[in-house]
Amino acid sequence: MTSRIQTADVVIVGGGPAGRALATRCITHDLSVILVDPHPSRTWTATYAAWEDELPAWLPSEVASTRIERPSVWAEGATTLNRTYCVLNTSLLQSLLSDSSLQFIATKAIHLTRDSVFCADGTHVVGSVVVDARGTTITPRSAQQTAFGIVVNRATAEPALDGNDAWFMDWRQDNGTHAGDQPSFLYAVPLDSERMLLEETCLVGRPPIPLSELKRRLHIRLDNRGAIAPEDSAVERVRFSVEPPPGQRGTIFRFGARGGLTHPGTGYSVGAALNEADLAASAIAHGGDPQRELWPYSARGVAALRRVGLNALLTLDPDDVEAFFAKFFALPADQQRAYLSDRRDAAATAKVMVSIMASSPRRVRKTLMAAPFRRTNPVDQD
Ligand SMILES: Cc1cc2nc3c(=O)[nH]c(=O)nc-3n(C[C@H](O)[C@H](O)[C@H](O)COP(=O)(O)OP(=O)(O)OC[C@H]3O[C@@H](n4cnc5c(N)ncnc54)[C@H](O)[C@@H]3O)c2cc1C
Repeated sequence: MTSRIQTADVVIVGGGPAGRALATRCITHDLSVILVDPHPSRTWTATYAAWEDELPAWLPSEVASTRIERPSVWAEGATTLNRTYCVLNTSLLQSLLSDSSLQFIATKAIHLTRDSVFCADGTHVVGSVVVDARGTTITPRSAQQTAFGIVVNRATAEPALDGNDAWFMDWRQDNGTHAGDQPSFLYAVPLDSERMLLEETCLVGRPPIPLSELKRRLHIRLDNRGAIAPEDSAVERVRFSVEPPPGQRGTIFRFGARGGLTHPGTGYSVGAALNEADLAASAIAHGGDPQRELWPYSARGVAALRRVGLNALLTLDPDDVEAFFAKFFALPADQQRAYLSDRRDAAATAKVMVSIMASSPRRVRKTLMAAPFRRTNPVDQD
């Protein structure tokens, strides 16, 4: 195989939302970028959503195809959240993150070093900075989120919504589950003025609930509510690891889900990657260390606490999960926001965890207190 050499200021491996967001911001900072991905032209199909306050100012507001000002939660009763949630227009997001000066190499990277990438097609790409944005991989040990969803028109979805605009989480057990079953919830969001996504979701599991079981639960739930979906409804399948692969300290800068930006207790990473892309790009442009910028002590503290939170979720008795979320969503909005989205305020994250523990029954408290001492998939953010 003939080897050819290509060079750029920044070489980004992985063209998902994180890799492309970083590439786009690097270009804004006058850096040349090569992006290596085996399928750079593949159309994104996932329904991405994020809290409106997570979206960076450099993204035009039209990127949100719908805005839900007060999404609803059912956890031991209904409540609404005082925080706007956005479903993103995936194709617009993809095109906004596809700057025309971005150079793509359509191949798989097989070996990465600090300043070069060796590709399966023989290309050797050299850059001042190499970024690993290859996302996560699923292993039998990784905690995963799974979901099975269908897209229906609003009138069909109506009975499942009980008058709400959207369910961020609906933990009611009218989905055919029984006491002791690993729980799943209904996520129901408008995709546009016509269509709704109704998705039965396993927030996190090790192992997660299989898609076939989530499909079964979704149909039982919808039948129970009188929401009869056409058999040919479009389907969305979700399965990804919420944990990055264990890393080697201080070698290659990792970004996005690969770099630990996924909140392991919720599975969200797109908002964080969009939000952090400019900071990382700016550090690269000014000769700084993007790893240091993204992972000060406070961020590493938050990440450690979130891993404890993940352990708590994975070890909670299934019958206590709904009560756990009832406590969480009873917290003041600023505390919910801090836990869900603030990557750098370890004290605020810890405060939320202590509040939930303090208000939980003794049995739940014991599980939560043991969570820090259970083994996690080790992630090195240093
Ligand atoms: C249906 C669905 C819905 C989702 N909804 C949400 C949501 O609402 N909000 C949210 O925050 N998250 C959501 N997620 C999770 C979200 O998809 C991921 O967290 C997100 O894609 C991570 O972005 P990333 O760019 O870090 O990695 P990825 O999107 O996984 O991108 C990694 C890229 O790296 C490339 N790659 C891999 N290996 C190599 C290699 N060796 N060489 C070169 N390139 C390589 C891949 O081709 C891919 O393009 C959803 C996931 C699914 C499946």
